Amino acid sequence: MAGSKADSLFSLIPSVDKILSQPRIQDFLVVYSLPFVKSAVKGVLNELRDRIKKGSVEPNEIALDGVVDQIGIRIQLNLVPKLCRLVNATGVVVHTNLGRSPLSTRVAQRIVDIATSYSNLEYDLEQGKRGKRNAHLKSLMKELTGAESVLAVNNNAAAVLLALGTLAKGREVIVSRGELIEIGGSFRIPEVMTQSGAILKEVGATNRTHPRDYEQAINDNTALILKVHTSNYRIVGFTREVSVEELVQIGKQHDLPTMMDLGSGCLVDLSAFGLSEEVTVQEVIAKGIDVVSFSGDKLLGGPQAGVLAGKKELIDKMAVNPLARALRMDKLTLAGLEATLQEYARQTNPAMSIPALAMIARGMEELLDEARQISSSLESELQDRAQVVIEQGAGRVGGGALPTSDLIGPRVCIRPRDFSASRLEKALRLGSPPVITIVKEDYVMIDPRTLLDNQAQMIPQLIAKAFEQIQGQLGIKYQRD
Ligand SMILES: *Cc1c(COP(=O)(O)O)cnc(C)c1O
Repeated sequence: MAGSKADSLFSLIPSVDKILSQPRIQDFLVVYSLPFVKSAVKGVLNELRDRIKKGSVEPNEIALDGVVDQIGIRIQLNLVPKLCRLVNATGVVVHTNLGRSPLSTRVAQRIVDIATSYSNLEYDLEQGKRGKRNAHLKSLMKELTGAESVLAVNNNAAAVLLALGTLAKGREVIVSRGELIEIGGSFRIPEVMTQSGAILKEVGATNRTHPRDYEQAINDNTALILKVHTSNYRIVGFTREVSVEELVQIGKQHDLPTMMDLGSGCLVDLSAFGLSEEVTVQEVIAKGIDVVSFSGDKLLGGPQAGVLAGKKELIDKMAVNPLARALRMDKLTLAGLEATLQEYARQTNPAMSIPALAMIARGMEELLDEARQISSSLESELQDRAQVVIEQGAGRVGGGALPTSDLIGPRVCIRPRDFSASRLEKALRLGSPPVITIVKEDYVMIDPRTLLDNQAQMIPQLIAKAFEQIQGQLGIKYQRD
């Protein structure tokens, strides 16, 4: 743009003081702080100056009213929480991208209670002096898993890092080549090993590892034998895996500690829900493994955390590693984790009170009922604008657990008449609240398994709203009968 024209536009931009004195901005200042509002004003003015330089500004945009409009929009956008609740209609229960395990209100309430008050987080009430934050978990964890001691950190990746860094820094850790896992979000055993300062000693082959492979790898510099649960994949066919019992035996013979990275941290037998592959924490501890590590927010169904449970002597060493301070869990997590463990102690069937387990346990009839309700309200909402059918589908446990187990259940499948399924998926995803669905061929699919509270009642309206929005965009008029 010619210099002179830009100059004249620059001179038309209203001053900050002038803008701040406008009634609409004054209204914002009743609720929001001056620095916050001022920063929005300056942000909008800077954008306008940049756009004048580029020659892409209309004069009405720099008029006082137009500028105030833009500031209002900017303030509103800044105030919308970016982290939001959403509806998980994917049927993947422990969905890592969608926040893994939701907590029950009882557990969440404990977090609120602790968060809004002082607490004995690191205070020993008996002794009247400084205490340890992990002490609160010890007795409960011992009752539930049989472990002598426990140390909880920020997540399981941190737990593995801390264990390796404490027990094997500068020394060798033996791991089977069949267990060199990668978990989503770039957690890889070889790389965690390097980070911890331990030296990875791979043994065996991808599909077959024998006890003698471990035994032959042991030397003076061996510090630990590590078993890693192949949470998110299975090796099938011509295979040989060294069992926990065999590893414990080898560890004892050679006076070496053994550890298992369990991943999920399941405390209940899932075979009651038709799932059987997942080993429990207490089983592994009972078999004599010295240390196990697992996540708080996978099958345990609690907040994000990493738990190290096992022999006191080893756990104590980890607790005094300076890394433990850097990786420690916060009081809100501790409150949520303790409350989650209490649910296991309280109920005969934790599947009743731990939302993630409850969703896994949901029965076919209940799910079908819900699917039918959704589908019949959809039919009356959408009429001939979409084809709605119920199909059998398969959800997943998720969170990198039980990769070969399907959670069989019904899905409500919606095929819009006038636009594509992916257009509907996007409108639902961008809606308020967002609804995350699955698209398969021409259908958008809703798996009722992972719907919480009253979401099954909400969904038909949210879908109808998305239809109206898309029809509006496409200029399709629809006459309701
Ligand atoms: C999930 C998983 C991890 C990582 O746990 P986070 O809690 O996500 O940090 C580590 N090891 C195994 C075997 C896992 O399944």
